[in-house]
Amino acid sequence: MSAMQKTPLRFLAGFVPTCLALAQPQPGTKLSVDQIKAQIHVTAGRRLRPQSWPNGARVAVALSFDVDNMSASLARGELAPVGLSRGEYGAVDGLPRVLRLLNKYQIPASFFIPAMSDVLHPQMIRDIQAAGRHEIAVHGWIHEALPALNDAAEEQRLLDQAIAHLTRWPRPDSSTTAA
Ligand SMILES: [Zn+2]
Repeated sequence: MSAMQKTPLRFLAGFVPTCLALAQPQPGTKLSVDQIKAQIHVTAGRRLRPQSWPNGARVAVALSFDVDNMSASLARGELAPVGLSRGEYGAVDGLPRVLRLLNKYQIPASFFIPAMSDVLHPQMIRDIQAAGRHEIAVHGWIHEALPALNDAAEEQRLLDQAIAHLTRWPRPDSSTTAA
């Protein structure tokens, strides 16, 4: 590659971060070290790695999947067909492909599911549970963005609503599938 061809790439590499930085406020630059430390409310916490893994394993791997489908788009009120169809693909084709692969190797996994994903495609949880080795985990009511909500009571209401929905038994039959 000649020097002439490289120039535009160097220009872009320096130009894009500068533009982004200009558009963002920088309140952290005015704070003391103590004030900075006081801003940090969430950390990784204590390390949970045990002295050794069971059966002498050298490493442990956890597979988890977000079964978001169209819930995040719906939470934001984004109803454009492109985004919704992408979510539909996850429910109709994406999840079954993941499950076939996990079943082939008999690997257990966790599936984090917004309750709204289950409302719209209840077959998904039945398919996940059919293998008998996976777990269902709550992932909000409609994939709500908690920092945007910024409301502890509303967060609790949506979480309670999601748990009540995901833990109801028996599961609805496929005739209640909305989509
Ligand atoms: Zn998610």
